[in-house]
Amino acid sequence: MTEMSETAPDKDAPRGAPAPKIGLVSLGCPKALVDSERIVTRLRAEGYELSPDYAGADAVVVNTCGFLNSAKEESLQAIGEALAENGRVIVTGCLGVEAGRIRDQYPDVLAITGPQAYEAVVEAVHKAVPRAHDPFLDLVPPQGVRFTPRHYAYLKISEGCNHSCSFCIIPHLRGPLRSRPFTDVMREAERLVDAGVQELLVISQDTSAYGVDLSYAETEWKGRQVQTRFADLAAALGSLGVWVRMHYVYPYPHVDQILPLMAEGRILPYLDIPFQHASPRILKSMRRPAHQEKTLERLARWREQCPDLAVRSTFIVGFPGETEDDFVQLLDWLSEARLARVGCFKYEDVDGAPANALTGQVPEEVKEERYARLMAHQQAISAEVLGARVGEELEVIVDDVDAEGAIARSHWDAPEIDGNVFIDDCEGLEAGDRLLAKVTDASEYDLWASPLHQPAGTAA
Ligand code: SF4
Repeated sequence: MTEMSETAPDKDAPRGAPAPKIGLVSLGCPKALVDSERIVTRLRAEGYELSPDYAGADAVVVNTCGFLNSAKEESLQAIGEALAENGRVIVTGCLGVEAGRIRDQYPDVLAITGPQAYEAVVEAVHKAVPRAHDPFLDLVPPQGVRFTPRHYAYLKISEGCNHSCSFCIIPHLRGPLRSRPFTDVMREAERLVDAGVQELLVISQDTSAYGVDLSYAETEWKGRQVQTRFADLAAALGSLGVWVRMHYVYPYPHVDQILPLMAEGRILPYLDIPFQHASPRILKSMRRPAHQEKTLERLARWREQCPDLAVRSTFIVGFPGETEDDFVQLLDWLSEARLARVGCFKYEDVDGAPANALTGQVPEEVKEERYARLMAHQQAISAEVLGARVGEELEVIVDDVDAEGAIARSHWDAPEIDGNVFIDDCEGLEAGDRLLAKVTDASEYDLWASPLHQPAGTAA
């Protein structure tokens, strides 16, 4: 069950009946995590308390993932566990669109809602566990309730997606792109920074498409006219004095506009671009956004503008129709692209995705073999790329300090998905500190470094 340790107890709570307690199991991607945060923010604002275990909860909300069949299975298991352990279960999230399937297996769930259905979840909680109104309980921190450590936070700038990648059912689950208004996003970002956040992780389904659905509406921010678009938002976020990391960006020409912000140190020199493949034939069959772009040329130009740029990406091997020749094109592309960070998935059918109907399904053993080859190929590249950093001075942010030292990250490392920077000499360091460190050693994923000092002007 997701820990609720970020949430302070209600100091005014029990004057009369104790506040009802809700448990929450949060599965899936950072976008689902943000949904969970919003649900819990609403519940806490209404005076519900959170239970860290099944036994203490009056009801349990399970926020499910429905992206891959394996994720659906995991979600169904989590629902089963919550029912067995607690018995009063409300299901939400991506798998919620398959209410029939959930009810067939678990007829006793109290309610089922789909993704981003905050109102419906909260209503289901009201019904399952009503609470008496008490205005003294309607107190939550202004930045809301977060499940991430105090020093970093995900900032969701839009919902949904306008693309139709053949392996993906997200547009079906979450609908078309709906960007949040510029000032809403910035106000949330400022609240987070005021609350001590040192790193904002910008997420959406397609961050580079921000504002398209609002026709790039003009608005005023801090006395300046801005447009609701990716470059203006990046510049505004880059003025907040914290790390700003861009996830789920596509290599469109307009992304060029944010490279100067990276070169000037206003946002992190990091782009998370899910390329998924390099063979033009497979990219076309995947119906990937920007699949016609000449990505290697664009990467080279970006690196001229910002030599320190780190690009992380994910790839799918064994997509239907992928030949050995397509796969070798992908390996060659990786050799040229020299990406800092790479994740890889073996293709699997997702119920309802158009790719299921494609011919040329790749046998499982071939997927396994290509997966292992890609990982080994990229490990050698990453080891070289990271090895070249030995002796450099980097700014890092500390995530944790334990008996063995500090676990930190560089500009090149997003939490949870990339590598770490390990610092043995950690006296005086605390989670959230930003400091300069000198790299002393490297592996294919991680760096080791000695502390130098905290960069001037950064919060400790
Ligand atoms: S860009 Fe493609 S993979 Fe990503 S959410 Fe949209 S349709 Fe799915």
